[in-house]
Amino acid sequence: MRKLNLPVEDAIDVFDICISKVQNNDLKARLEHCKPNLITAVTDYTTKAPRIELHTIATHNSINGNVSSEEMKKVYTDRMVGSTSPGRYIYDKWRASAPNNICPLCAQRTTDTLEHHLPKGNYPIYSVVPINIFPACSACNKIKLDLVVNSPEREPIHPYFDDVDDELWLKAEVIELKPASLRFYTVKPDNWDEIKYERIRNHFKLFELEKLYGSHSAVELTNYNYRINEMFETGGALLVRNFLEGSWLSMRNVNLNSWQTATYQALFNSNWYQEGGFKSE
Ligand SMILES: [Zn+2]
Repeated sequence: MRKLNLPVEDAIDVFDICISKVQNNDLKARLEHCKPNLITAVTDYTTKAPRIELHTIATHNSINGNVSSEEMKKVYTDRMVGSTSPGRYIYDKWRASAPNNICPLCAQRTTDTLEHHLPKGNYPIYSVVPINIFPACSACNKIKLDLVVNSPEREPIHPYFDDVDDELWLKAEVIELKPASLRFYTVKPDNWDEIKYERIRNHFKLFELEKLYGSHSAVELTNYNYRINEMFETGGALLVRNFLEGSWLSMRNVNLNSWQTATYQALFNSNWYQEGGFKSE
């Protein structure tokens, strides 16, 4: 899961821009009155996110009994997502903010939407709060939907507040059947506490990453089959091993916990693969 830089926009500025073209005077006045609640909510979020306490924020269906959940959600859907809406340029900027447009939740598919960490349906006050919104792929967005959790270990990894690349937690093992394939799994780093590990384990499960990575690594193995065969014919298992080691170190240098790093580490550790397991038959 990829860490992202915090958005630089101020929550009240974004809110002001979004509601700037509200025509209905009553609605406009009620939205304006939400600002103190918004400031409190952002402070609460900023304090709780690094402590893995966002699950303690209560779900709500109105802001102060003054603005309904639906009205607040529309500040996002009508005034930030809409193609001609005043907040659209912020939406576009955030959606394009992930390095190489890679989704921070699955670290594989490309970003094409925005994701609310605390879902706007259950936490409408956070509908347009910058630190609650980040770019993601539609598949992850669909999986997460209106997820509400009630314990720290169920909190999905937050791209702005969590760093899970400080230790190795993603591994793969070679399934010794022809054609060779890989199974991905998580391991608990010694330096992590149980909650951090349970979070990554639950995140891995929730976003179905075992299947996603298994499928991409299978394509990778097929793509390299010709080259590995050629190396084996010229320099035997040793040459194959050297190539796999170089690939593993190169991938690891880019990202410690990518499926590519796990793939090449597993292949480098597999004598079975190097001594002919790579052959399709
Ligand atoms: Zn994704």
